[in-house]
Amino acid sequence: MVGPADPIALVRTFTFAEKSPSWACKASIVALKSSLNISVVFTTFICSISIPSTCLASCTTLSARLPSWDACDSRMIRTSVLQQTPLLVAQEDPKPQIPELRPSKGQECFPLLQRCKSMEEFKQVHAQILKLGFDWDSCHTGSLVATCALSNWGSMDYACSIFRQIDEPGSFEFNTMIRGHVKDMNPKTALFLYEEMQERGVKPDNFTYPSLLKACAHLSALGEGIQIHGHVFKLGFEADLIVQNSLINMYGKCGEIKLSCKVFEKMHQRSIASWSALIAAYANLGMWWECLRLFGEMGSVGYWRAEESTLVSVLSSCTHLGALGLGRCTHGSLLRNMSGLNVIVETSLVDMYVRCGSLENGLCVFHNMPKKNQLSYSVMISGLAIHGRGHEALDVFSDMLKEGLKPDAVIYVSVLSACSHAGLVNEGLCWFNRMKAEHRIEPTIQLYSCVVDLMGRAGMLNEAYELIKTMPMKPNDVVWRCLLSACKVHQDLEMGEIAGRNLFQLNPHNASDYVLLSNIYALAQRWEDVAKMRKEMKHKGLTQMPGFSLVEVKRKVHKFVSDDKSHPQWNAVYEMMHQMEWQLRFEGYSADTSQVLFNVDEAEKRQRLSRHSQKLAMAFALIHTCQGSTVRIVKNHRMCNDCHTYTGLISKIFNRTIIVRDRNRFHHFKDGTCSCRGFW
Ligand SMILES: [Zn+2]
Ligand SMILES: [Zn+2]
Repeated sequence: MVGPADPIALVRTFTFAEKSPSWACKASIVALKSSLNISVVFTTFICSISIPSTCLASCTTLSARLPSWDACDSRMIRTSVLQQTPLLVAQEDPKPQIPELRPSKGQECFPLLQRCKSMEEFKQVHAQILKLGFDWDSCHTGSLVATCALSNWGSMDYACSIFRQIDEPGSFEFNTMIRGHVKDMNPKTALFLYEEMQERGVKPDNFTYPSLLKACAHLSALGEGIQIHGHVFKLGFEADLIVQNSLINMYGKCGEIKLSCKVFEKMHQRSIASWSALIAAYANLGMWWECLRLFGEMGSVGYWRAEESTLVSVLSSCTHLGALGLGRCTHGSLLRNMSGLNVIVETSLVDMYVRCGSLENGLCVFHNMPKKNQLSYSVMISGLAIHGRGHEALDVFSDMLKEGLKPDAVIYVSVLSACSHAGLVNEGLCWFNRMKAEHRIEPTIQLYSCVVDLMGRAGMLNEAYELIKTMPMKPNDVVWRCLLSACKVHQDLEMGEIAGRNLFQLNPHNASDYVLLSNIYALAQRWEDVAKMRKEMKHKGLTQMPGFSLVEVKRKVHKFVSDDKSHPQWNAVYEMMHQMEWQLRFEGYSADTSQVLFNVDEAEKRQRLSRHSQKLAMAFALIHTCQGSTVRIVKNHRMCNDCHTYTGLISKIFNRTIIVRDRNRFHHFKDGTCSCRGFW
């Protein structure tokens, strides 16, 4: 708001606020009422925007009503008004009574600055100013620097050269330059300027800090951020809403969520931007549950119209947690609150639907997108890939090529993984060769790991090993991991040991790799080696994250951990599992204990298997969802063989579609069979 503040504050409010006629009007009224000696800069701002005829009266009377205004100010207002209203020119006195008030060409240059649309035009105006000798008045140079530094077409180098010629730049000029450098993705220079500002004794104000904190956020420079927070506190800007929001954002980007929360909690007044900053901070750290909780809270205090960026954070939370119901609500929210969705939001929607198991909805959003970019195609192709619809993924890829979009290495990763998930080995190898020959894309290590995966899943373990040996770069842990998991699927102990040895040399800290090799030993009944692996893990202090499964019931996500009774309804869940097992027996089910890693007796193995988190989640969903509805589960580990068979039979017995997302892909179980056809 424009309050009865000092002129400098008014000017700043103006620079950062939207320059609209109503602002000009309000500002001129405040100016009239407060009888302040308004600076030339302020006048320039009023004059540089288009003033509607209703405000003309107050503007033209400014000079008359305020005797303290100097001649220059009155002249500028008159010049601007005359320029903008040719009709009024005729009514003006053709001969100004005081000769000094005649509009001079120099001042006319300043409103022209605001109309510049390119560096070329800007340089012309600047040359004109230099020619007329109006250059080194600090107010004028301030507008020059601001126009050049902050316009989309501007140039920071040029702005710098003007800035460096100012003898005594004030906080306005420093703020402008800091803001310009941050906008130009040059955060380090912004921080250096702040240092210079302090050395030269220029006092920062509340407009200095949001840009500076943004610079720290870009650099993840926590130390500098904390120091600047100290300055904010010392100078008394800690209660400024915009500064507080910037602090939340800065701490969030530096991964210090606790400090973000602290600033948030201390705020007396919060805006939508404050909530958005904290939600984004949680999303940045992958704290999806907290993200959704905060979004709910934000709604409960009356902020329903969330910003687009917040809704994107919420969408990615839904994506990670497999919360389709909530994701759908967010989609509705977006449609209600936004006039049109841009390609980034639409791509997040496609990703959310696809990864929450609703491939059809994802395809629907994708096909209705008016504009698609490489990322949208990549999301759709990898989406079809993880659902095992390799042929359709390749069709989408052809569509993309037909549209004339150039494929890159990222798209090829999606294409190759589509082939890999669907067992399309020949197609995959063919695209890998075409990628090099036709699209001139040099295969990255990631692409090589895709090919190793493709060959490995199809059982071509020797070929995959040969490829690793002949790769132009040194294989990394991902490549060996792909080979190791293929060895598990195809139960190749010898190759598994080679892959394991290389893998542990490169990365000895990943618990699941040890488990993977242990699985291969267990399948071969080599219990001594299983024990050796376990000992090594213990020696290195590695523990595997317990398996968990998430299931959404009535828009609430429930978490089940293997062999755990912490869920409030565990009694009912275990009761339901009992019934399920009883019915499974009629279908000829017997537990597949081959992958249990402990050398314990069969009964114990069966017991362990029966309490896998996926089974608990499934039992819970069968109790709480209506007949015939689809059950959707997201789990953190790869699905074990037993859970795969078990879930298939349950889908048949209970006549349900069960969709499970495991670490690698989606499994759609229906009538006893799974869409993955064994490729997982
Ligand atoms: Zn299992
Ligand atoms: Zn499957």
